[in-house]
Amino acid sequence: MDHGDECFGQEAGFPGPVQWRRSARARRVSLRIDVRSGSVVVTLPPRAGRPAGVALLKTHAAWVRERLAALAPPVVFQAGAEVPVGGAAHVVRIVEDRIGEAWLEPGAILLGGGEDVAARVGALLHEQAMERIAALVARHAAALGLGARRVRMKDTRSRWGSCAPDGTLAFSWRLVMAPGWVLDYVVAHEVAHLGAMNHSPEFWALVERLTPHRHAAVAWLKESGPGLLRAGQPELRSGGNSIGAGGPP
Ligand SMILES: [Zn+2]
Repeated sequence: MDHGDECFGQEAGFPGPVQWRRSARARRVSLRIDVRSGSVVVTLPPRAGRPAGVALLKTHAAWVRERLAALAPPVVFQAGAEVPVGGAAHVVRIVEDRIGEAWLEPGAILLGGGEDVAARVGALLHEQAMERIAALVARHAAALGLGARRVRMKDTRSRWGSCAPDGTLAFSWRLVMAPGWVLDYVVAHEVAHLGAMNHSPEFWALVERLTPHRHAAVAWLKESGPGLLRAGQPELRSGGNSIGAGGPP
């Protein structure tokens, strides 16, 4: 496997790629699904051998298979692909004579000729994310009577946004692919933390003041968020394909 993964094949009747991790802090053998690479991660505590992981995989094969099958094929950043921006499909098109340029048009991501399409689509999405998120931060902060804030883009898998004690707000650039009302909620959530650094009723009242989209957005992120995490480089798709190809007998 690529990404340093190890493939655990038919031996255990197991269909997908497996990543083995050893953790000094782990107390027991555990399994989790890595939605980004579409594989199952087996974590072993210091003294456990690999057979313990194989045993756990065997007893949970059906669960793992179901979870992997539920992962939609990832969006790949390449020419001809449909990449969502603000929740709307944008076809990646190459305009050979405008070398090095990258811009958005309705329904299209346009790239001048040149190499590394995936990285350039990613860079354009980063830029778009920064622009859209900064505008939403300014609007929601103003609604709470607060001034400008520092905003950073991250690529985190465990959280969509965060608010540091110094008031710096950070967001996953991948949110730019989600519908605008989802982005609106995530930004409203983090800006509300400037008024309340907890998830108290007062905090949620601030969120509700800023956006009507809380519940729908939380549901959308639960359902479709993993797809945002998997979008990107073509190599990720090969992992997804090998799972599909090796599906249940
Ligand atoms: Zn929060």
